[in-house]
Amino acid sequence: MMTGAQYLESLKQRRPRIFYKGKQLDRPFDHPALAPHLRTAAATYDLAHDPRHAATMTATSHLTGGKVSRFTHLFWTGEDLLRKVAMLRLLGQETGTCFQRCVGLDGLNAVWAASWEIDQKKGTDYHARFRAWLTMVQQKDLMAAGAMTDPKGDRSLPPWKQADPDLYLHIVERRSDGIVIRGAKTHITGAVNSHEVLVMPTLGVPPEGADYAVACAVPIDAQGLTLVFGRQSNDERKEEEGIDCGSPFGVVGGESTLLFEDVFVPRERVFMAGEGEFAGPLVDRFAAWHRANYGGCKAGNADVLLGATALLAEINGTIANAMVKDKLTEMVHLVETNYASAVGAAALCTQLPAGNWLVDPLLANAVKQNVTRFVYQVARLAHDLGGGILSTLPSDADFRSSEVGGLLHKYFAGKAGTSTDDKRKLIRYIEGMTSVSTLVEALHGAGSPQAQRIVMLRQANLGEKARLARQVLGLGKG
Ligand code: SF4
Repeated sequence: MMTGAQYLESLKQRRPRIFYKGKQLDRPFDHPALAPHLRTAAATYDLAHDPRHAATMTATSHLTGGKVSRFTHLFWTGEDLLRKVAMLRLLGQETGTCFQRCVGLDGLNAVWAASWEIDQKKGTDYHARFRAWLTMVQQKDLMAAGAMTDPKGDRSLPPWKQADPDLYLHIVERRSDGIVIRGAKTHITGAVNSHEVLVMPTLGVPPEGADYAVACAVPIDAQGLTLVFGRQSNDERKEEEGIDCGSPFGVVGGESTLLFEDVFVPRERVFMAGEGEFAGPLVDRFAAWHRANYGGCKAGNADVLLGATALLAEINGTIANAMVKDKLTEMVHLVETNYASAVGAAALCTQLPAGNWLVDPLLANAVKQNVTRFVYQVARLAHDLGGGILSTLPSDADFRSSEVGGLLHKYFAGKAGTSTDDKRKLIRYIEGMTSVSTLVEALHGAGSPQAQRIVMLRQANLGEKARLARQVLGLGKG
């Protein structure tokens, strides 16, 4: 397994084509806009070497028997799913932000199961190819970005009826030695600092949409692949020095739009190429695993946010106030409710025919639905306790000014013996973790609220609930 430093060095061996604010980045891995996200991913590598976290951060590969990062290990037992939730909370606590690698992990599991099932039904050899690729990923300890979401164009039309057929990624050429794909994937977390991209379909399709059912692996610097790194709230602060930058680990995951301009994918890296009936289950399972995650990672992030909010109250001299304590208690309640649901979704797992284990889909979707509300509620409470200073604090440059800096330090002081700089760091962290990018990510990451409601109603089995009501109340059969 790589250390964080080795991971950063390994990225420099790649030559991805990355654009940011209209320019191609010559040295992307040295650019300040990307730096916090590289730092966060590096922390996941370093923590895998910490003996205190070995059981959480590492696992024994069922493919090779070797020790691997849990981010490349399939959910091979129910226990693996519980350990994953623990890992998400731990990393959320250690970095205070999104650590990017779970999309790829859930994608590995989704493609493992789908490729196995296609082979069983169609006699193809996708699973052997995927197994070989996954073994390579484990042995080299690579970071794989999961790429699922297509731009979708006119959402009232299926992919093959769009005015521009490229609005969903698809196969444009089938060759004896591989396929050529064209299209885009949007909101791809951690892609700029990944070694590989695991491309997955965005929805199930009937036979006329077969070219849109594609799963494959593409190196991040593949010919024809371009990444456009997205903007975030306050992102220009990353290019400044000092306290205004906020947390060294940044906020959210560093998302990109991936443009595939006729990318050739060799046969051994193709894991689905037209089997549309298997694309829907792949997406549903991926979504279940990933939606359950949010009860773990957001709880870890909220632990840091809660700590920051409490420390700020301490500096402000309000921590002993009963009203403040009650609001902190409400934050704890919301966070632990999410975490408990994620643990529950993992505990009620079932084994898939391909051997790996799936979280309970109903609970997983309920977790994410709660996250879309609770993260906002937690942020509101942090705003309430933090005060208006969260949005009006003067810049770090003013605090360092020889003319007004001294006065600012004097008037922004807190309780005697506390540091104004610490107070400003806390304010900037709370600001970042409760601002637009963070909130929108909590709402739409892993699927929008309505997507969860569709699955929840499908999974809820209302017919069985009606039967129970009839039985308990002695109703007629109706
Ligand atoms: Fe992982 Fe959470 Fe980031 Fe998704 S939002 S990639 S689950 S840390």
